[in-house]
Amino acid sequence: MGEITDRVDIIAFGAHPDDVEIGAGGLLAKEAALGYKVGIVDLTRGEMGSRGTPEVRAGEAEKAAKVLGAVWRINLEMPDGNISLDQESIMKAAKVIRKYRPVIILAPYWDDRHPDHVKTGQLVTEAHFKAGLKKLEPEMPAFRSNVILYYFLNRMEQSSFIVDVSGHYTKKQEAIAAHYSQFGPGGLKPLAALGVKAPLQFIESRDRFQGAQIGTAYGEAFLVRTAVPIDDPMKVWGI
Ligand SMILES: [Zn+2]
Repeated sequence: MGEITDRVDIIAFGAHPDDVEIGAGGLLAKEAALGYKVGIVDLTRGEMGSRGTPEVRAGEAEKAAKVLGAVWRINLEMPDGNISLDQESIMKAAKVIRKYRPVIILAPYWDDRHPDHVKTGQLVTEAHFKAGLKKLEPEMPAFRSNVILYYFLNRMEQSSFIVDVSGHYTKKQEAIAAHYSQFGPGGLKPLAALGVKAPLQFIESRDRFQGAQIGTAYGEAFLVRTAVPIDDPMKVWGI
């Protein structure tokens, strides 16, 4: 893992150590390959999961970050299963934004069956706003990223746009596979008992479906709460 430098272009936030891979691994691998600096922030160590210890999961997360080409991956060590939207937790994430000053932030879509994903989406949304308030904890200069891209985990909604990730899909699959405690045979079996029968098939089918909508092999969909500026529609639709 490279040195933690002072600025990155993109920070992807997730609740658990495999969330950003599942929702946006293709985009992260693509941007890293294009030369942009990508940082990953996991809010929890996933210690409530029945599969894998926090230590094992930290090693897997590090490996996955390397596969994607992220410059660093940090963990805020918030309690898994009990992420709080209190001021202290919000400011923890806000300080990461102020320190690394990313142009783009990624967060889980705010409506999901897992409460941690919901809370992470809300927490990052508030952190993004508060990071830009000059009078709030002014010893650290205020900074606000230009946009939050919400990625999808268990649920999908009508997206704002879909990114072609076909050229980077093997990296995404490799990064997900790095989470062996979750997606190896020993991890999939207990997951099936919970009613999640084929998570890898779900992820791949979804990304295939998103790709099909834009005429590519694989795609990742994102939602934004603001308008999407397009300089020249001819460049998007004219070819
Ligand atoms: Zn998760």
